[in-house]
Amino acid sequence: MRILWLILIVPLQILGLRRTNKVYEETYKVYYNYADMTDRLQRFSQKYAHICSLVSIGQSVEGRELWVTRITTSPTADVPGKPRFKYVGNIHGDEALSRQLLVYLIEYLLTQYGRDVRVTELVDRTDIYIMASMNPDGFEHAVEGDCIGSSAGRENAKHYDLDKSFSDEDKHFRKTSEDIPEVTAVMQWILEKKFVLSGSLHGGSVMATYPFYDGSSYVTSGLTTDDALFRHLTRTYTENHPIMKMNNPDCPEDPNKSFGDGITNCLILKSWGMQNYNYFKGNCFEVTFGLSCCKYPPASQLFIEWTNNKEALLAYIHQAHIGVRGFVMTRSGFGLPNATISISGTDHNITTWMFGDYYRLLLPGRYDITASSPGFLSNTVKNVPVIEGKATLLNFTLEGPVEEMLLLDPSEQPMITNDRLSTPGPPTSRSPIHTLDFQHHSYDDMEMFLQLLSAIHPSITYLKSAGRSVQGRNLYVMEISTNPGVDQQGAIAYGHILLHTYT
Ligand SMILES: [Zn+2]
Repeated sequence: MRILWLILIVPLQILGLRRTNKVYEETYKVYYNYADMTDRLQRFSQKYAHICSLVSIGQSVEGRELWVTRITTSPTADVPGKPRFKYVGNIHGDEALSRQLLVYLIEYLLTQYGRDVRVTELVDRTDIYIMASMNPDGFEHAVEGDCIGSSAGRENAKHYDLDKSFSDEDKHFRKTSEDIPEVTAVMQWILEKKFVLSGSLHGGSVMATYPFYDGSSYVTSGLTTDDALFRHLTRTYTENHPIMKMNNPDCPEDPNKSFGDGITNCLILKSWGMQNYNYFKGNCFEVTFGLSCCKYPPASQLFIEWTNNKEALLAYIHQAHIGVRGFVMTRSGFGLPNATISISGTDHNITTWMFGDYYRLLLPGRYDITASSPGFLSNTVKNVPVIEGKATLLNFTLEGPVEEMLLLDPSEQPMITNDRLSTPGPPTSRSPIHTLDFQHHSYDDMEMFLQLLSAIHPSITYLKSAGRSVQGRNLYVMEISTNPGVDQQGAIAYGHILLHTYT
């Protein structure tokens, strides 16, 4: 008997030691439980460590990790210059489809990076966070094939509906972090990351909702001043979804068998859903999507559901790049965190992140845009053009008599770093830009860096485009002189640098 145990145990230990990061090919035929999903996400993060990291932002009531997969270049560092996007799935534990589809999306982004031009650009330019399951405890109680949620998996292990637990302003509905650790963790995550755009994924209906508000109460209806933008964001998903765009999901258990253009902005009474918390408390525009009539469809339908949603999931992430973006800085070149960005025609402001960078989603048009921060003179730029598809770069430099006093210690300011510095070390100087490593830069990297230099040193630099390449990229010229941007008779034409020609 003793000999038999040795025979059994030793090979398992060897197997354990030899465990690799091999990721088995997706079959689209089976749901992952918590252990399987955890294993798969860990393997992804090991195999694709150059563009993927996995962190837990907290634990569920029953101690399961709240996994977040991050996909971007430099996936373990906070860097400026990329809008932060998130998807959150499986908020209701018995709505299982989104959880599975988000695992598929993670794999798709990772495996197509470097192969598919669109995916590569998306990962290069966007800081993508994917929480496949916000309610891992509920999921473990849910039953495959249960379309109407008759099992006990909808709520968390303390029987709270997580999506209805973001109402931190209503004392009657206030819960403790022991009751809803999942919500507490997500709230902190939202405030910390200042996401730009988000999708909240549900099931049991095929529909989309977005925030609205009447300005005084969160129990009645009213359009936000961003309503047109929300409708655009929502349509981006629905028009790329073959069922949603037909406007007739015909869900047998859903009384709303047809719905206008697939969009409804219903607000559940007495609940401040996650999407409203994102919009009114965070920096983030979030739309809620119901992906399927059946909450937990049989695994045999997973591949067709992935096919139905793949384009929509990708197209929606792209929307993080519309509007206007840039930095708010002091004249000394330090980024101003929490500076306010206000847009003419809307009462909804957003604030800058830790580097002074901001991203404000907007529809095409012209806007007066104001940056302000306590202790500084506000700065308004009028008639800023916003075009379709790509954000306009607009940097602000704020002046104020007490500006440097507010910065307690410049060395403690978040530094704008080259995002590919591989090993963090002590700052090499007090300059807001670290010494750069020597490497090739993508067009977007270079564009951002030049715009940043120009914003930091407006008195000696002048950045202009000498034209555009065949593919529409600017041919940037940076003039460095004591009188930049002004032609001087007799001046020797040096200090102009044509930074790249594209073929
Ligand atoms: Zn739901």
